[in-house]
Amino acid sequence: MIAPGAWLGVLGGGQLGMLFTRAAQRMGYRVMAVDPDPHCPAAPVADRFVPLPLDAPEALAALRDTCAAVTVETENAPAAALMALATHCQVSPAGAAVAVAQDRIREKRFIAAQGLATAPFAVIEQAGDLAACAALLPGLLKRSRYGYDGKGQALVRTPDELAAAYAAFGGAPCVLEHKVDLRLELSVLLARDTAGATALWPVVENRHVNGILDMSIAPARIDAGLARRACDAALRLAAVLEYHGVLCVEFFVDAAGGLLVNEIAPRPHNSGHFTLDACRCSQFEQQVRVLAGLPLGDTAMHKAAVMQNLLGDLWAHGDPDWRAATGPSTCLHLYGKAQARPGRKMGHYTCVADSVDEALRQAQSVKAGLIATS
Ligand code: AMP
Repeated sequence: MIAPGAWLGVLGGGQLGMLFTRAAQRMGYRVMAVDPDPHCPAAPVADRFVPLPLDAPEALAALRDTCAAVTVETENAPAAALMALATHCQVSPAGAAVAVAQDRIREKRFIAAQGLATAPFAVIEQAGDLAACAALLPGLLKRSRYGYDGKGQALVRTPDELAAAYAAFGGAPCVLEHKVDLRLELSVLLARDTAGATALWPVVENRHVNGILDMSIAPARIDAGLARRACDAALRLAAVLEYHGVLCVEFFVDAAGGLLVNEIAPRPHNSGHFTLDACRCSQFEQQVRVLAGLPLGDTAMHKAAVMQNLLGDLWAHGDPDWRAATGPSTCLHLYGKAQARPGRKMGHYTCVADSVDEALRQAQSVKAGLIATS
């Protein structure tokens, strides 16, 4: 066990890195955060902030020389550097697992190899591969690397649109997925420690707008059989990856009720933010626990929860009127980002209540108040 007082490192200083930092500090650790953006959310919070790219040799040397353990807040952390760091200190998740999650082509092939269903897909590594995948249209062309929140993705309906989107992505390796008729989106968040012990939070129901998560509802309003299948699939993926850390597995439920694995995130996830306010142990505390070799925390929910993201669009006509988000069962989290751009995640709030229906009512009323006065 790594005792309080030790330094923990985090590659990436966005809101996930900032929330990890706060959880670690509450538990008595000191945190070194690395991010190229000196204005990122973790910069003013970390005990030591290193304003460098995640693959900068000086940044990796600082982590190696200072930290007893290192984690990531983004799947784009350099996998090879994580593997190198692991010869000096504890690194969770391992570089090998991050390498799968950061590359859609590897990720899709890995999921399919476990016998789990995905949206029908084709790998496009060169222009010559385009002709063979017309049967998948309409579909989503997704860059294999560095996509997030709908970025690096294009909806394509015809072979011409597919060719144009592939050219717009600079001919980078891509995956084309058939556009699934979605009934529902779900995610399973779990923690797995280095000995293979696991803890899962209740399955989450997610609503996306324009490819960006808008709202998460926990627990998901699904039958126990579907919840079990999603949890089993997530546990299987974690076990095969020999995963240690917090993992999110995102799912689609298609119109016929089929469960498809969408993608995996080797870190805490936006759809797990409700755990900060509605669970004994949040996903960030759990990330600290796995990293420091502490027993896994209790994932039980003490209330139903609805998490609503606050995107920069809300600032279009000035600051929202925060009075709408000050009720006793509304937990507001702002990430300290100075510039509100459309689609940028500026913060979120979670409404906690005795039932999902009540939490949904409250979340909608808060949103209406914020919009009405913004
Ligand atoms: P992703 O970044 O791949 O998770 O995609 C972001 C969101 O876009 C998903 O959560 C869905 O709402 C939507 N989406 C992505 N891929 C598909 C697909 N193959 N079919 C239908 N909707 C999709």
